[in-house]
Amino acid sequence: MPWSITIQQAPPRPEAIIWEELPFGRIFSQHMAVAEYKDGKWQEARVQPFEPLSLSPGTSALHYGQALFEGFKAYQRPDGFRFVFRPKDHWQRLNHSAHRLSMPEVPYELFISLLHHLLLQEVALFPPNLQHAIYIRPVYFATDPWLGVRPSETYMLVIYLTPVGPYYKDTIKAYVETELSRAASGGTGTAKMAGNYAAALLSGRKAQAKGCQVSLWLDAFQHEYVEEFSTMNVFFVQRDSTLITPSLERGTILQGITRDTILYLAYERGLSVEERDISIHEVIENITHGRITEIFGTGTAATIMPIQSLFYEDKVWELPPHTPIAQMLLTDYKAILQGDLKGNPEWIWPV
Ligand SMILES: *Cc1c(COP(=O)(O)O)cnc(C)c1O
Repeated sequence: MPWSITIQQAPPRPEAIIWEELPFGRIFSQHMAVAEYKDGKWQEARVQPFEPLSLSPGTSALHYGQALFEGFKAYQRPDGFRFVFRPKDHWQRLNHSAHRLSMPEVPYELFISLLHHLLLQEVALFPPNLQHAIYIRPVYFATDPWLGVRPSETYMLVIYLTPVGPYYKDTIKAYVETELSRAASGGTGTAKMAGNYAAALLSGRKAQAKGCQVSLWLDAFQHEYVEEFSTMNVFFVQRDSTLITPSLERGTILQGITRDTILYLAYERGLSVEERDISIHEVIENITHGRITEIFGTGTAATIMPIQSLFYEDKVWELPPHTPIAQMLLTDYKAILQGDLKGNPEWIWPV
């Protein structure tokens, strides 16, 4: 049963979007979708003009961090077919994060109806080609204006959109973080929690100081086993085309939907895939001996991002410039978006 959504239309966008020169996440949709939770249930839901929220300084999300988000994309094919990629999987992960932060579950009908009505109000935002996309950002947070430390009794879910192009323009350098930690087993590393990002920013600054664009995190216990980048999962490619990625069993890694899609594509290509612990020493040793030939990150924003070098313990470890496996998997990923490759039919959700 579709959820009932009130629609309040915003005026049309005053100026056209220049798709060739998009800054990431700076242009917003004219509308946003809002749902509120109180008295033990989800209340009115609406699509309304995009505008600032009015919040008490006591808003508990600001003090105690009950705040999480999601990120996924909607596309338009050249024939005009519009779709969202894997919305149900993102909804499931939203609820996984919500559970970890003691926040109420968001019903699928509510989530998908909000999204659908929002996209229908924003059809003008769909890009002309598959190089560009609409990035969908749900943010979900606690709104109780009291200072008691306990799960909030009221919450707000807001979904809005931003048009995006390719995230990083070139290959990137990664800084291996050997002092700070992102997540420990039993912690919040598997939740897409706002605070995980705040905690990663300092490492991002260290990375920048070394000429790198991203941090590669190691396990919190020994700083030995590779976990992921701050906003992407990590894959290693061996010379024999075997793919290695850290296993989710560590309980510290974000379960990337792109990671999952790439694993599917790799199996379809007949590549061998190992989801296992991989130590930074194994990585460095195998780069040195030419046995690891590619490293790439995966995430909704960038899809597949080849890594050019690792900065580890004051040395730079270069990777070969050619990234055939990353390119092949990216081509397959795009073929799924184009509709030329099947994938799982549930992944393509028509608008
Ligand atoms: C969102 C995110 C990813 C990528 O997940 P996708 O579902 O592929 O976009 C990876 N790592 C972290 C820490 C993330 O927050």
